[in-house]
Amino acid sequence: MMVAMETASPATTLPAIQVAGPAVTPAPAAPAAGPTGVVFDVKRGSAEDGPGIRTTVFLKGCPLRCVWCHNPEGLDPGPVLSLTPGRCVHCGACAEACPEGAISLAAGGVPTTDRDRCVACGRCVDACPTGARELRGAAWSSAALVAEVARDRPFFDASGGGVTFSGGEPLAQPAFLLDCLRACRDRGLHTAVDTSGYAPRAVALAVAAAAGLVLFDLKHPDPARHARFTGVPLRVIADNLRALDAAGASLWLRVPVIPGVNDDADARDGFVALLGTLRRRYPVWLLPYHETAAAKYARLGRAYGFQPSAARLAEAVSALSAALRAAGHDVRIGGEARA
Ligand code: SF4
Ligand code: SF4
Repeated sequence: MMVAMETASPATTLPAIQVAGPAVTPAPAAPAAGPTGVVFDVKRGSAEDGPGIRTTVFLKGCPLRCVWCHNPEGLDPGPVLSLTPGRCVHCGACAEACPEGAISLAAGGVPTTDRDRCVACGRCVDACPTGARELRGAAWSSAALVAEVARDRPFFDASGGGVTFSGGEPLAQPAFLLDCLRACRDRGLHTAVDTSGYAPRAVALAVAAAAGLVLFDLKHPDPARHARFTGVPLRVIADNLRALDAAGASLWLRVPVIPGVNDDADARDGFVALLGTLRRRYPVWLLPYHETAAAKYARLGRAYGFQPSAARLAEAVSALSAALRAAGHDVRIGGEARA
């Protein structure tokens, strides 16, 4: 089943973001109101995704393929099946429930899932008594999603916080994102959008105009190495950053510090040079890499071969911080390098 693709008026030609995937399982409380998007998590109580206490909404689909990505469940635009074999009690209920014949049982009832045949219908998830099978990703209407996050208003009011839209790449679902941002604004909720900046120019500008804050990620300042480590060109991102700067957008810049990727002297000089092309100065957050994603890849049946040197991390953060501060930037350290 195809999920309706959202469209925007691109000012920049980018590879199409296909919201094409298996059937979407509606969130239980989702009434049909406003555009529908695909969300894989709603995380409450974050102190790392903008000012104050945040509720972070993770939207599915991302055009980048960062080698260190911490949210592999956000890459595909549709729901994906996540398996935790350690919870399995070999009852066989999943194989019986699967309409696609994607699950076979080996000796002792141990299930094997053929992901090429899986359409993420969720029947085995419902049948499984132990939670060994989960779907990551569900359809939400913008009205239902904003009603859900608005429940956290007391925490926002007490801390100066709000709602952050992350992913995946939230700008990959522009109509849904913009409707959520407008609905939050109508309710008086502060909003932030965490983006790679890889999107059509018109989308980036529209989102920046609708959001209270844009958390703009910069992963590498060198075009060739940016393409090698993320799979997309730097030019689109850098041009969008300069466009948001010129438009007066409220920005925090965020640099994931990844040993072996962007911690050498050339990269430090490149970040200083890139930020030097902006008209204004913004807080620059350095996000140290955390090794937490390998188990997620295994549950999704994906390979994860990235092995950065943790021993170099503190030194890398310190060196980049020093270089940026020497250039006059307001550097802050914290958070987590997700993607
Ligand atoms: S989600 Fe489960 S039941 Fe549905 S096709 Fe995939 S393996 Fe089969
Ligand atoms: S239904 Fe769940 S517990 Fe039973 S065999 Fe399938 S994965 Fe294992």
